[in-house]
Amino acid sequence: MTQGFQAVIGLEIHVQLNCATKMFCNCPNRPGDEPNRNTCPICLWLPGNLPRFSQEALEKATLACLALNCQIQEKSAFDQKVYYYPDLPKGYQLSQFHRPLARNGWLDIVGEDGNSQRIRIQKIHMEEDVARLVHEKEGRTPVSLVDFNRAGTPLVEIVTEPDLHSPRDAMEFLRVLRTQLRYSECSQCSMEQGSMRVDANVSVRPLGRDLLNPKVEIKNMNSIRHVGDAIAFEMDRQVECVRGGEPVVMHTRLWEPDARITVPMRGKFEGPCVPDPSVPPVVVEDSWLQEIIQKMPEMPGAKVERFVTRYGLTHEEAQHMSSEREVSGYFEKALDHEAPPRLAAQWIATQLLPLLKEREVSLETTSLDPGRFAGLLFMLGREEINVNAARDVLKRLLESTATAAEIVDQCGYRQVSGAEELEALVDRVLAENPSAVENFRKGASKAMGFLMGQAMQASKGKANPRVLKELMTKKLG
Ligand SMILES: [Zn+2]
Repeated sequence: MTQGFQAVIGLEIHVQLNCATKMFCNCPNRPGDEPNRNTCPICLWLPGNLPRFSQEALEKATLACLALNCQIQEKSAFDQKVYYYPDLPKGYQLSQFHRPLARNGWLDIVGEDGNSQRIRIQKIHMEEDVARLVHEKEGRTPVSLVDFNRAGTPLVEIVTEPDLHSPRDAMEFLRVLRTQLRYSECSQCSMEQGSMRVDANVSVRPLGRDLLNPKVEIKNMNSIRHVGDAIAFEMDRQVECVRGGEPVVMHTRLWEPDARITVPMRGKFEGPCVPDPSVPPVVVEDSWLQEIIQKMPEMPGAKVERFVTRYGLTHEEAQHMSSEREVSGYFEKALDHEAPPRLAAQWIATQLLPLLKEREVSLETTSLDPGRFAGLLFMLGREEINVNAARDVLKRLLESTATAAEIVDQCGYRQVSGAEELEALVDRVLAENPSAVENFRKGASKAMGFLMGQAMQASKGKANPRVLKELMTKKLG
């Protein structure tokens, strides 16, 4: 449908900073509390109250900028972004328009074609959030209520260059961005809970051309998946317009998740952006900045490289283990307890995390500490138990406080690897199944699977499958 055309996509991402207080007053920064609980004259924007800029907001915003490889500006300043709407009774929002906190950042993503691609970040600025409108019904009368808990919540807005060209790459960028920001611990970045909100600017152009056509802004996506779907829909819509000879005009559209379409949005009155006289310019001293840089944890990219070179993980395993800070922390603690590295990476990714998800607990809240988990992997690595037994022991570990060794002994899971013991077993199974043996010798390789199954059953699941297979192959000649 969009063949012969290329999308040009830029993103604007609002991220709520997880500060204890709001940006310009001491009210708790908890937008989800009972409506209008966390308010004061400053964040109700009553006349005659001066905002006081929070140092913690600057610190968290700076962490966000560093996590996205931006250059922090020595001096930045707040402007009054004038617009009129019930969620903003004072008529302007404090936002850094002319002099943002940071510029010239970037993030690398693995693009659709498998190659690494650098997406430029034009700027990051700080801004206060506006109040939240709640639309309800009183009887049959629709009413709109205003909740000021969110008014004055500290935000950063991240503006990318229009470097993205497909819905898939836009989603990938957002995933990488979310990981980076969560690592820096400046925000939870949950689109579902509203602590990360994404607007997408989309235009289309014939493939191979450099021009920038009028763009359409899409709002109201509350998951990364919705961002991808909305962009894909919008590309189709614009290409259809162009093919029909109808020009695309610049405007704002809303994503309707149920209908899976975008619809035009009524425009808000938007005024100018004028310098604000009430908040002093924000000055970032170099010594202070160095302190913040010291606070930055090892970021995912560096971690992946270290996991590959130090522990011998594959690139994919290393990526999986550094996708979240709590995963990498758990992984390294398990290694401290002598878990074999690759086994640990594989078992965390494919066994432990799915089991925890089923039980709705996280690595941080599970009672299975990395030490007991490592005990299981240690036994598995030394072939003291086989994979099937290990899976069962893992489930039991999650439900008790016993060690892996205790559970293995209790359940009689210790694997039989002794060649003598297993040889007798193999002889017996081959003698009991002459037709399968004959089939195997005639070339039916399936018969081997059957014989292995019989031998495993005869050992009550305790035979070491590797030793068993070696013996079996030798006997069958
Ligand atoms: Zn307040």
